Amino acid sequence: MQRTSQAGLAAKILLVDDQPTSLLVLRDLLQDLATLYFATDGAHALELARQHHPELIVLDIEMPGMDGFAVCRSLKADPATRDIAIVFMTSHIDIEHEIASLTEGGIDFLRKPLHAVSSRIRIKNLLDLSSYSRQVAAEKEWLKVTLDSIGDAVIATDLDGKISFMNPIAERMTGWLAKEALKRPIEEVMQLRDAHTLEPHWNPIYFAIKEQRVVAMALNCQLVSRTGQLFQVEDSAAPIIDPNGRCLGSIVVFHDVSESMALALKMSHLANHDPLTNLPNRVLLYDRIEQAIKKAEQLHHKLALLLIDLDNFKYVNDSIGHNFGDLLIKQAAERLGSICSAGTTLARLGGDEFVLVLPELWSVEEVSLFAGQVHSQFQHAFVLEDKKYQMAVSIGVSIYPDDAQTIEMFMRHADVAMFKAKSEGRNRTRFFSDELEQQIIHRHQLELLLRDTLANQQLQVYYQPKLCLATGKLLGAEALARMQNHLGQWISPIEFIPLAEETGLIAELGQQVLYQACEQCLSWQQLGYRIPISVNIAAAQFADLLLVKQITDLITALRMPASLLELEVTESALMLDVSKTQNILSQLKATGICISIDDFGTGYSSLSYLKKFQVDVLKIDKSFVQDMLTDRGDMEIVKAVISLAQSMNLQLIAEGIETETQKETLLQLGCQMGQGYLFSKPLSAADFTTYLRQQSGQQNLQSEE
Ligand code: C2E
Ligand code: CA
Ligand code: CA
Repeated sequence: MQRTSQAGLAAKILLVDDQPTSLLVLRDLLQDLATLYFATDGAHALELARQHHPELIVLDIEMPGMDGFAVCRSLKADPATRDIAIVFMTSHIDIEHEIASLTEGGIDFLRKPLHAVSSRIRIKNLLDLSSYSRQVAAEKEWLKVTLDSIGDAVIATDLDGKISFMNPIAERMTGWLAKEALKRPIEEVMQLRDAHTLEPHWNPIYFAIKEQRVVAMALNCQLVSRTGQLFQVEDSAAPIIDPNGRCLGSIVVFHDVSESMALALKMSHLANHDPLTNLPNRVLLYDRIEQAIKKAEQLHHKLALLLIDLDNFKYVNDSIGHNFGDLLIKQAAERLGSICSAGTTLARLGGDEFVLVLPELWSVEEVSLFAGQVHSQFQHAFVLEDKKYQMAVSIGVSIYPDDAQTIEMFMRHADVAMFKAKSEGRNRTRFFSDELEQQIIHRHQLELLLRDTLANQQLQVYYQPKLCLATGKLLGAEALARMQNHLGQWISPIEFIPLAEETGLIAELGQQVLYQACEQCLSWQQLGYRIPISVNIAAAQFADLLLVKQITDLITALRMPASLLELEVTESALMLDVSKTQNILSQLKATGICISIDDFGTGYSSLSYLKKFQVDVLKIDKSFVQDMLTDRGDMEIVKAVISLAQSMNLQLIAEGIETETQKETLLQLGCQMGQGYLFSKPLSAADFTTYLRQQSGQQNLQSEE
């Protein structure tokens, strides 16, 4: 029999009695307190208990078959029903029965016949009590789940430091199961020691209990698990205080920081190492140098710093791609590493630059020997995907304390020496010297001056006349750049043009000269003089794809006839990239600008290329002109150039003519045009104008004669 008397009531009561009348009495008493279920035998009672899990079972003891005690035992044996509160009912009045029913696990006892009012009050009280304890149990369960799912290990103790709770992470880290650890002193289960000294470490819970405050564990603490496993831990302990302010014990929360310490270590490795080669980076290098210097000071040794730079790496890197470039750097690092002994520091500064610090040197010769070893490491080619790449290195060396007293100087002077090695043709080692330093300082000052001069538009242009050798008639002028220093001294373009090329200032310089020269040409034109002007174009400018546009834009803007402009490009600049040259020359040619090959004979032009280039003029270099009368070889070259120009139908001009004899000889050989000190040095614009007036006066005189 089973009936729900009032749907929606939260509490449930199961009433069990083999006498239906007794059930009916109970129903009338209790139906407004709970949802009621009824059973008239033990088996059915068990079934309903499992199915509905009531808060309370009112259970008759005397029943045929399975009696109330047997039902109670079955309920207590089953974890699912164990917690259900049981109230026995019996018509026996002896105290033994009462005791027996309470020892079986009943929480109360009702005597039949039931007294209506008192039975109802008792059952209501029991129901309240049971729902309260269920609520407490649920809260406890919720707390346990929370503590179990915390990412940190949690251990609680009583006031004596005996363990009262452990969550699964605490179990895992200590190697103790909570049930084994219960009531044991915390220092037995949670063994702490100092990571450095390995001395046992105090557990913070005792301080937390004693001082009634949160206590953090000392840094650098290790937990030794039951199986000997080590954890680097970080933790804090807090006292457990009840609402009345009484301390009940302590709780310690801790977690494994091994991973984050490993991460921190890795981070510091990353901060100090180059990720590609795993070599020390600049930061660590400076540190090592600092230490090496200290040691060298104490022991009166020398130190050498070798700055090693792969020659032409940029070019290779651009052509093979950066991934292969990286592989190449790695291989180079390995080769360098293979010759380093324990005390040597090898670092990568970035790009293709490495630094080697040799400690404990007795003589400078040792460094030369070592540098030789470095070079020989690069004798055999690098192989990437079956392709061979021949690489070489340039090395700059500075010695401590001979060349430098500080790290910065040490590095800078190696850099200076390296620059020297590069400029002397690469694949070599150069040592720093005072003389070298002077050169570098001078170069630096010159660069500053050049920047200033360009920024303030103070570059000047001089003009050297070009003449017809036979008649002396003025045919044009070559524009030549001039720069003055702060003392008013002239600096030779032989010095500052290469510097401008190296520093990238050449584009600006070229533009300023071109602009001044064109303007000057136009103002002479306004005065009635038609003076074609030639402007020198440096190799670095010639490599610039914008060159043609810049030039054509300028002459268009100035409305200058293209036929008045000539560009002088050296033979070697033309040969740098033949197909590019061809392209640029044909574009220029299309505008009507005239092209001449400067310093002809000094480069290594291949005639076949020369034929393809669209040029107008060959300029015989002044070195041949000046030596042709004394040097047969030079004479032969002059003759060859002249016949070449004739066969290719090119105009010809000789530069650097200083004597009448040179002029006469050139004329006889068939060279019609020339320039040189014999006729005039390069002149300022003003002087050139005066020169023009004199010339035209003479011409007039000549023509009047
Ligand atoms: P370059 O183009 O071969 O210029 C001729 C050089 O020879 C000039 O030297 C000129 O002054 C000098 N010279 C002229 N006649 C004689 C002579 O009879 N005897 C001797 N011994 N020398 C003579 P400068 O002006 O010192 O220029 C030197 C070089 O600097 C030039 O050689 C040219 O390559 C470069 N340069 C000068 N100005 C510029 C410029 O505006 N742009 C570029 N890219 N290079 C320039
Ligand atoms: Ca020239
Ligand atoms: Ca020249």
